Amino acid sequence: MSDLNQAKDSLPFTQWAGAELKIDLSAIAENYRRLQKKAPAARCAAVVKADGYNLGMIPIAKRLKEEGCSDFFVAYLDEGLALRSVLSDNDQIYILHGLFPGSESICANANLIPILNSLEQIDNWIRFCNQNQTRHAAGVQLDSGMSRFGIGPDEIELLCRIDWKSFDLALIMSHLACADIPNHPLNFKQLQQFRLMKQMLPPAPASLSASSGVFLGKDWHFDLIRPGAALYGINPTPQKPNPMQNVVTLLGKVIQTRKIKPDIAVGYGASFVSKKLMRLALVSIGYADGFLRSFGNKAFAKSQKYPEIPLPIIGRISMDSLCIDISELPEKALHTSDFVELIGPNCPIDHIAATGGTIGYEMLTALGNRYQRIYY
Ligand SMILES: *Cc1c(COP(=O)(O)O)cnc(C)c1O
Repeated sequence: MSDLNQAKDSLPFTQWAGAELKIDLSAIAENYRRLQKKAPAARCAAVVKADGYNLGMIPIAKRLKEEGCSDFFVAYLDEGLALRSVLSDNDQIYILHGLFPGSESICANANLIPILNSLEQIDNWIRFCNQNQTRHAAGVQLDSGMSRFGIGPDEIELLCRIDWKSFDLALIMSHLACADIPNHPLNFKQLQQFRLMKQMLPPAPASLSASSGVFLGKDWHFDLIRPGAALYGINPTPQKPNPMQNVVTLLGKVIQTRKIKPDIAVGYGASFVSKKLMRLALVSIGYADGFLRSFGNKAFAKSQKYPEIPLPIIGRISMDSLCIDISELPEKALHTSDFVELIGPNCPIDHIAATGGTIGYEMLTALGNRYQRIYY
């Protein structure tokens, strides 16, 4: 885990990979600039947990640092330790999950900022700071209405017994449950609740919004915004056109093509049976590569030469391959070793995800290790 990308590069079987995962770092930078512009009064952080939503925490963090980003969020202490080695000591790294008891000194020695999510975590941090006679920095998370991380409204009176002078309160944060639905009443309730609870703590920089929250308006911005998904091209405003630039392009290679007559089964379970003469292409991506089984008979691919023609995925998705219907393409338009797009500008990730009953977030974090990853 010392370098998450090294781990990926050292995989032996990507030289002849059947698929390419292209990651556009300049599009991530452009998305960062767009988000920063949307919340001009706030600082824009970058959430790079889960290896940068599986796209590569290290190259992404390096690129965003060039863009002026100086605040990074990860979920786990291990992720923070790996990230620290490529950032400077002035860059802030926040650990969203807080700390398991006993790891306080590892965290502080690497100059990482834990987000303390419970009274127990706060007590442990204070004890650690007192032992060290140092006011180490930490953030505190408040639960403003989604019952996940943070100190809840029913515990708020207990906060007055906390000796806030024992540590450096670097951030007060909370997280929105329904920010992708702009008129959801919970957005307003959580905003109100966050403002109220925040007053029970000493003054400190505040943060409420992830990607979608940024688009709710400036009341939700506070001092620091925390986008992840939008940086990676996922639409933060699902009911409107995507304001972000496409980042990820997944291309699968054609292994073989064939013609089938009417009344012929395709794939496991014979879930698809032809009604007419068809031309098919077998593509070397399967569910072991994170292309989920739920996309079988639902999603589509595109050939890059004829992006206006959807190529339906037919039959069930296998572990290492899937089948597409290329009957609508001109004869001989697609050959062995040609690429077809499965995610990208012509197959928007949110759209493909919806066909399989999931979301872009899950699609990204499911992508496997067998792709040749190309950064540009
Ligand atoms: C993952 C996460 C984010 C980033 O969310 P996106 O919707 O990807 O922008 C921000 N804050 C917290 C607490 C998170 O867990």
